[in-house]
Amino acid sequence: MQEQHDITIAPRPQPASRPARQESNGGPRFHVYTESSLDKIPQIERLSAAERFNMQVVANVLPFRVNPYVLDQLIDWDNIPADPIFQLTFPQTGMLDPADFERMAELIKAKADRKLIKATADDIRLGLNPHPAGQQALNVPTLDGEPVSGMQHKYRETVLFFPTQGQTCHAYCTFCFRWAQFVGIQDLKFASTDAAQLHAYLAAHPQVSDILFTGGDPLVMKTRHLAAYLLPLLEDEYRHVQTIRIGSKALSYWPYRFTTDPDADALLELCERLVKGGKHVALMAHYNHWHELETSAAQDAIRRVRDTGVVIRGQGPLIAHINDDAEVWARLWRKEVQLGIVPYYMFVERDTGARRYFEVPLVKAWEIYRQALSQVSGLARTARGPSMSAGPGKVEVQGVTEIGGEKVFVLRFIQGRNSDWVQRPFFARFDPTATWLNHLKPAFGDEHFFFEEEYESMATGRIPTPVGASALSH
Ligand SMILES: *Cc1c(COP(=O)(O)O)cnc(C)c1O
Ligand code: SF4
Repeated sequence: MQEQHDITIAPRPQPASRPARQESNGGPRFHVYTESSLDKIPQIERLSAAERFNMQVVANVLPFRVNPYVLDQLIDWDNIPADPIFQLTFPQTGMLDPADFERMAELIKAKADRKLIKATADDIRLGLNPHPAGQQALNVPTLDGEPVSGMQHKYRETVLFFPTQGQTCHAYCTFCFRWAQFVGIQDLKFASTDAAQLHAYLAAHPQVSDILFTGGDPLVMKTRHLAAYLLPLLEDEYRHVQTIRIGSKALSYWPYRFTTDPDADALLELCERLVKGGKHVALMAHYNHWHELETSAAQDAIRRVRDTGVVIRGQGPLIAHINDDAEVWARLWRKEVQLGIVPYYMFVERDTGARRYFEVPLVKAWEIYRQALSQVSGLARTARGPSMSAGPGKVEVQGVTEIGGEKVFVLRFIQGRNSDWVQRPFFARFDPTATWLNHLKPAFGDEHFFFEEEYESMATGRIPTPVGASALSH
């Protein structure tokens, strides 16, 4: 994996055969710190021994990866542990159940065997709903009767593609729902190196107007790999594929990918060729906090991307300890608009991993969305949400109201497994503690939501899909 992604784990030196290659354009060289090199992070010395130990405990269970840009430019080390980017990337004690935390802490204190630590970590991970999916069973498309790996086709017009070379990220978000894959307990069945299969599938499906490259982060990939997937789409047989979306956090976590990295210019040229060839190219940029938009490196990268004709759209989940505050969202959306980024989605965090630490009740998510939206101009009100990417579709919490004396959530599908569900309002009993769609019960004494029967019949004969399943945060 490491060679494939041209990522080195700090502080291991570069092999002599690849001397300072990454510094060719004068920019910083990419390297990462992980659980095993946590202690080598210079800023970590500011923390007490107890705090460092606690981080070590959690990092043995949940994925951890940061790079020098995140450490030096995004995190305000005078404001830890509250700093949102510190919370976004560094393991926190509250992310594990206290009993699990103690279990792991005891082993590390006793300097237990690595194998035992790993087995215990895996056991704890299994308790964290590592597969909030069912998505593999329901969404894997077929070509000539054979399942196509590395793809998901859930909504008629959009196909998701997970290139194998893009199944990691420049840093890891502590809340990421793909965490299980990063720690190796979920296989990469979902990833594909097969450009030919992708192209054959697209050629055979004229209803597909959008292809969405996702990961991990597909921009971890070298430009030449990306080009092999994307350039053929300029050919006439793919003219129905009008939009190419790339889901990425590289603008936040490693903006040099667009400026000084060795193949940064090649990436921008690729974007320009696609745009000139008639495609709408959208960079679906994952943002959680306006801090990510403040550095000159980030702003240079944004400018360069926009100069190619690529449209940047901002999206990200609402997360306790990071951005559960209307002021933060309002400022994020305003800053996005100022920099030419279109606010797109506010997501509800899903039911996996360290959700105990991150989750926000739906009612609070809606209040934050409403308060943020109400204080920005119309150009920033393009952000939809709060949206749950659940099994039946993307469900937006439109609000809380009272109908016939009953307090209810008003909901609607932004996307539906059946496109006929889209934009139909439906109602759930108000529940101040609910954090996900599967916690909600139909209002007015109804037994089922209008889509449930049809959704269940879609799932018949396949692996049962929980309502709280599927899809992406960028
Ligand atoms: C969000 C999402 C899409 C894209 O939906 P849009 O509303 O077009 O942005 C496509 N596929 C899946 C599985 C998704 O979750
Ligand atoms: S949320 Fe995106 S950038 Fe963050 S770790 Fe997950 S896949 Fe990577």
